Amino acid sequence: MVKNLIDKLHQEKHLSKEEWVTVLDNYTDDDRKYAEQIAREITVSKFGKKIYFRGIIEFSNICKNDCLYCGIRKSNRCVSRYRLSKKEIIDCAEDAHKHGFRTFVLQSGEDGHFSDEVLCDIVKSLKERLPDCAVTLSVGERSRESYKRLYQAGADRYLLRHEAACERLYGEIHPSEMIHSERILCLKNLREIGFQTGCGFMVGVPHQTNEDIADDMVFMQDFKPQMVGLGPFIPHKDTPFGAYPAGSVNLTLMLISLTRIMLPNALMPATTALGTAKGDGRQLGVLAGCNVVMPNLSPESVRKKYMLYDNKIGTEFDAEAGIKMLSGQMEEIGYEVVCTRGDYTEN
Ligand code: SAH
Repeated sequence: MVKNLIDKLHQEKHLSKEEWVTVLDNYTDDDRKYAEQIAREITVSKFGKKIYFRGIIEFSNICKNDCLYCGIRKSNRCVSRYRLSKKEIIDCAEDAHKHGFRTFVLQSGEDGHFSDEVLCDIVKSLKERLPDCAVTLSVGERSRESYKRLYQAGADRYLLRHEAACERLYGEIHPSEMIHSERILCLKNLREIGFQTGCGFMVGVPHQTNEDIADDMVFMQDFKPQMVGLGPFIPHKDTPFGAYPAGSVNLTLMLISLTRIMLPNALMPATTALGTAKGDGRQLGVLAGCNVVMPNLSPESVRKKYMLYDNKIGTEFDAEAGIKMLSGQMEEIGYEVVCTRGDYTEN
């Protein structure tokens, strides 16, 4: 029954919510391997055995939001807060450029210091100095006008996980000031403005049901994002969700494969959370359909401070060691990392 639905998804790129629930409620390990097989064939036929490298720079852990799952939420008093200067961000990127990187992801909490003026200036300078690079932003919810300015300043892509397509679940994992419809509107605005846009969610976040995940899959099959970030939820001890269990690695892998089958051209990172939940998680992610990895380029001095969840990997060593480790892991499974821009294409 599940295999038939996987075949239907493969052919039609679409399942009803009820069909998604059927898959999620009933799939066996054998069905997961079946989905993985199809997803891997699609990925290899589209991208070869190439994995795109994106360097991530976590430039501020200051955040006005209080997401219940997140280690750098506003109410977490145990966090030592930092903000990189424009020079530090640019130095980081220029350094990585010398190592071949052509895509940078600038991620932060929702830090009010980074007004449109300040952030556009950073984006512009980056694009002027490194014109052959793509700049991806992941800085949360902003106005349509603000997104437009950032796009005009030269930003190419934007990652904003929708976190939950189901309004009830969204409400259970966010404070009441955060409004589900506003997050979805942000995604639509980003898309319309011209950004290559990424959404995504955590697998196994507290209170999430299979119906909720079905809503996420339906949302993504309609929205057709160019990028999708999926990772297991991992608890952070100083958050309200600190005592909940981590999300399942196998379910995350199944959802990666199904997303690949549904969105064959999508750029999908094997996330740091997946690598944190299981030592070979990112390798398994690639074998399940991911085609991107995102080594951390943040200066060593701040890495431990951008702790979204406990035991986040990659905080123990510097950028170069991280890059080496990841390339080695990819080579081990027969894949080659490439540093080209790796833009989204339709074919
Ligand atoms: N402020 C930005 C960046 C958020 S951090 C924004 O709002 O988009 C990037 C992603 O990390 C989040 O979207 C969330 O899905 C994920 N994340 C946060 N806490 C996590 C946790 N405890 N476990 C796993 N992933 C987490």
